[in-house]
Amino acid sequence: NHSTAAVLEEPISPGVSVNYTQLMINGKFVDAASGKTFPTLDPRTGEVIAHVAEGDAEDVNRAVSAARKAFDEGPWPKMTAYERSMVLLRFADLLEKHNDEIATLETWDNGKPFEQAAKIELPMIARLFRYYAGWADKIHGLTVPADGPYHIQTLHEPIGVAGQIIPWNFPLLMFAWKIGPALACGNTVVLKTAEQTPLSALYATKLLHEAGLPEGVVNVISGFGPTAGAALARHMDVDKLAFTGSTETGKVILELAAKSNLKPVTLELGGKSPFIVCEDADVDQAVELAHFALFFNQGQCCCSGSRTYVHESVYDEFLEKAKARALKRIVGDPFKKGIEQGPQIDNKQFEKILKYIRSGIESGATLETGGERLGSKGYYIQPTVFSNVKEDMVIAQDEIFGPVQSILKFKDLDEVIQRANNTRYGLAAGVFTKNIDTANTLTRALRAGTVWVNCFDVFDAGIPFGGYKMSGIGREKGEYGLKNYLQVKAVVTPLKNAAW
Ligand code: NAD
Repeated sequence: NHSTAAVLEEPISPGVSVNYTQLMINGKFVDAASGKTFPTLDPRTGEVIAHVAEGDAEDVNRAVSAARKAFDEGPWPKMTAYERSMVLLRFADLLEKHNDEIATLETWDNGKPFEQAAKIELPMIARLFRYYAGWADKIHGLTVPADGPYHIQTLHEPIGVAGQIIPWNFPLLMFAWKIGPALACGNTVVLKTAEQTPLSALYATKLLHEAGLPEGVVNVISGFGPTAGAALARHMDVDKLAFTGSTETGKVILELAAKSNLKPVTLELGGKSPFIVCEDADVDQAVELAHFALFFNQGQCCCSGSRTYVHESVYDEFLEKAKARALKRIVGDPFKKGIEQGPQIDNKQFEKILKYIRSGIESGATLETGGERLGSKGYYIQPTVFSNVKEDMVIAQDEIFGPVQSILKFKDLDEVIQRANNTRYGLAAGVFTKNIDTANTLTRALRAGTVWVNCFDVFDAGIPFGGYKMSGIGREKGEYGLKNYLQVKAVVTPLKNAAW
């Protein structure tokens, strides 16, 4: 069984203080108009870390006015692209300088292992800002041939005020994916963080201004979805909306946008991604990668490989080893060295995951290991493995968003393609094989926005990310991610006066 020793120890003190808890509006930290605050909690204990200003519709109005003014009057969109890129580069440097302090806030607020935040996510974030800084002065339109005596050109212009709503699973990485391309294109931003994890974005926003960002260009509202989030989604002066979170909330966002000013919306939503282990696979490697694909970030990834399909010829061996690997997973205080898994984000998610585990047992799947909470404090869950999972079970259909691996057996490629695609989601897929023909067949047949072959969760800044089907609309990151933040203007000029 899992050792609970690490969990039951007194939580390690994070050793930093929380300095930024107000809303960022027009370059200044301010209280909410209502004066209200809400507590943000430590997932290791459920105790309060800090009270944070609770933004609401009135604060969203103030933030949108500031972003509007910064867009319409400048200087941001009127600065040269090179000047804008320099702000992003200086910001990346500052992120590196304060790497461990920000990673500490991220771990404290979210529960993810500190080593993951400090050594993987923060460096990835700095890298992403440098990537988009590189794009800022390489965004340009075309000249287009015409049938008549006209000079035709397209201008790629920023779209205006971007509203952005982000989730709690990768708080600062989502902040980066959202504001990076928006700023490179010259937009201004009002971003609402998730109510579970407001701290790292506030710190980063302070650094953004230190890097030379003019006031009003990035405004950050902490607060709740139905109040602050909805106010942003239906705001008449927001020109574009980007959202990451659940498919359910994505539908609400799209409706609010449609009912207000028809602002274009990009959505990055849930998933139930297949991870397919083929008959020629090296089983030890496949077990390790499938384990990572599901358990990474406490299983709280929209693209997690949450349906592990294993070919019948290697199924028994895979199952034994997957179970042994889950049992060896090191769970405990995320500030401790060597920890692979911390607590889930909050009580709501914790209860929801335990309910899904009960549903798996009741529907006849075999619980191989785990299945219960770990310790008596905080939101730790045992790494859990189910075998004998069938597609019609709820645990094979719904996004569990927790450390629960479901293993399914398959016989041949045609069958696994059909089964893997038989979901309302289409965010990602994993393929594990040494056979190039098998890999090619699967990468083309799988209906998913990303297919990782013999790897998983590779997130370079240049790789577009987004979903087929109900996993979303549009792509983030890479060159594709810029399109969400640009308008195309066609300019038509006669070659001679009065060509008509
Ligand atoms: P959520 O989608 O409700 O929350 C995401 C963001 O949307 C938060 O900032 C939230 O405040 C905001 N929001 C919520 N309701 C809103 C509304 N009516 N109008 C505007 N904004 C609103 O997600 P959740 O409740 O935190 O988690 C529920 C499930 O969502 C999880 O179990 C998981 O399946 C999924 N999820 C997916 C992702 C992802 O990366 N795709 C991230 C987090 C959660």
